Amino acid sequence: MSRMLIMGPPGAGKGTQAANIVKYYGVPHISTGDMFRAAIKNETELGKLAKSYMDKGELVPDSVTIGIVKERLLQPDCKKGFLLDGFPRNLNQAESFDEMLESLGIAVDFVINIEVDPQILIDRVVGRRVCPVCGATFHVEYNKPKVEGICDECGAELIQRKDDTVETATNRLKVYADQTAPLLKYYQEQVFNVDGSKSLEEVFASIKEHLGER
Ligand code: ADP
Ligand code: ADP
Ligand code: ZN
Repeated sequence: MSRMLIMGPPGAGKGTQAANIVKYYGVPHISTGDMFRAAIKNETELGKLAKSYMDKGELVPDSVTIGIVKERLLQPDCKKGFLLDGFPRNLNQAESFDEMLESLGIAVDFVINIEVDPQILIDRVVGRRVCPVCGATFHVEYNKPKVEGICDECGAELIQRKDDTVETATNRLKVYADQTAPLLKYYQEQVFNVDGSKSLEEVFASIKEHLGER
């Protein structure tokens, strides 16, 4: 049974590694960023609200964010474990998450922290291209699709996220340093650090080494 969190600044490689991890361990990937982007695409009230914050690189209000995570964790597929990506992102979310876990009688087993030098993060974020259909992530230099601009997995045309600009990414890095990085201390018992400046394959290999056999 694995209940895991994956943490790290924007562009660290959380989503990329999360895709590998959930494939290997067979647990659901719960990404709050993906949930918000789906809501924006479906033009729901949640999407409208989330968009106004995401476009600026600010955090979506806790009341909303905590609510969607709570609802998601109650789905039956989470009984076998889960990998949370992008949540919690501040102390208040972490404390509410603890209450959720306690009421369910469960705990977090592993916190994976991907460390990357801030100087290379902007480059990663701005060069990121994502598939609007299946969610696969690529990079124009570091993780090129086989055919430029086309998703390897499903053949759809890749897009750039609206918040993947230098300006928004700079603000997201600041929000990360101010609000999210302090959580590493909160999770010091469960956290293990991975050097995210290595290649995609090397990063996944060190994660597997820490998590152990599935
Ligand atoms: P996060 O979810 O932490 O914001 P992503 O997984 O979306 O990060 O990765 C950000 C960008 O960097 C993507 O374009 C991805 O292809 C690329 N990337 C991810 N891991 C690496 C790596 N180890 N080396 C080089 N580029 C990477
Ligand atoms: P990245 O890993 O590149 O920072 P995410 O997809 O995790 O990107 O998040 C994109 C945006 O979605 C954030 O900048 C923020 O506006 C919003 N968001 C995602 N998760 C949370 C969260 N737990 N709390 C508040 N806002 C969030
Ligand atoms: Zn695709």
